[in-house]
Amino acid sequence: MAKSKLEYIWLDGTAPTQGLRSKTKIVKDFSGKLEDCPMWSFDGSSTQQAEGGSSDCLLKPVCIYPDPDRKDAYVVMTEVLNADGTPHPTNGRATIQDDDNDFWFGFEQEYFLWDPETDLPLGFPVNGFPAPQGPYYCSVGAKNAYGREIIEEHMDICLEAGLNLEGINAEVAAGQWEFQIFAKGAKDAGDQIWIGRYLLERTAEKYGVAVNWHCKPVPGDWNGSGMHANFSNTILRTAGSKETYDIICSAFGASPEVIKECIDVYGADNHLRLTGLHETQAIDKFSYGISDRGASIRIPIVTVDAGWNGYLEDRRPNSAADPYKVAAVIIKTVKSAKV
Ligand code: ADP
Ligand code: MN
Ligand code: MN
Ligand code: MN
Repeated sequence: MAKSKLEYIWLDGTAPTQGLRSKTKIVKDFSGKLEDCPMWSFDGSSTQQAEGGSSDCLLKPVCIYPDPDRKDAYVVMTEVLNADGTPHPTNGRATIQDDDNDFWFGFEQEYFLWDPETDLPLGFPVNGFPAPQGPYYCSVGAKNAYGREIIEEHMDICLEAGLNLEGINAEVAAGQWEFQIFAKGAKDAGDQIWIGRYLLERTAEKYGVAVNWHCKPVPGDWNGSGMHANFSNTILRTAGSKETYDIICSAFGASPEVIKECIDVYGADNHLRLTGLHETQAIDKFSYGISDRGASIRIPIVTVDAGWNGYLEDRRPNSAADPYKVAAVIIKTVKSAKV
């Protein structure tokens, strides 16, 4: 009788940034299919999702991938439900309103590889600082690129699992990296980012290295970490019109309330990162522009060159944001535009 390991992953109730949790379920003669993943439960009082007296929360499987780094194993992304089957307040995935998967998302997940002993990024000496930013972005060589064996292994595991990883690169700060994931569907894209994050944490753990998702882990003249959200729907992909792009971009700056609604889910401490420096717009300003990496929303030049058919990049979401909540507010805002 074959036995499989199913790693059920969920998001906890830690505020302001939800964390990853997971536990293993052993299943006999497993088909490998989502519909054969049973519902499961956990102690919500240990994850800030329930009170001790009524502690059970439910885990509803929503997608499954093979786990290449473990024998006879799968990773199963789940949504957290209350005991009565309704979505838990911490369940951002359930708030996405896009039943026909018309919205496509490409997230650029930045992060720092972090030495838990020195409490510094890989590449940072214990006393003082490495050379100033400049050489690290897309670098090669032991003087500038730190932790490559980890990100290479993570990339292979993601691809072998079947995640739609589109690329990786070394980022502007020492020890900072990025991976990109694209999916035709907001929930799918969010699922894959979370599984990608999980696999990165687990891979780095093998090397005694942590992942720092905070958007500004090193103060001063060191880049923060974003999670740029590239998005499109049928309208944006086929507009053929600058005016349509103007209307949709303007919807994101329609009022202080709309701007706040976005910033509220674009990740904790974002004021430390959205300063107007380091290729960002200030958190209290909204702007958009062609090829403008100092804008809140960038219209990629490829979109313009394709005759105003393509996608937009919201540069404000940060590395620790929940991609489900980011996607939900972007979809809502695009749908509010009167095109
Ligand atoms: P940059 O670093 O220049 O901002 P990247 O190449 O890192 O850009 O990321 C661009 C992202 O845009 C990729 O993840 C890609 O999948 C995504 N993307 C491309 N076309 C679309 C589209 N039509 N809809 C949504 N996302 C898209
Ligand atoms: Mn990028
Ligand atoms: Mn980047
Ligand atoms: Mn980008």
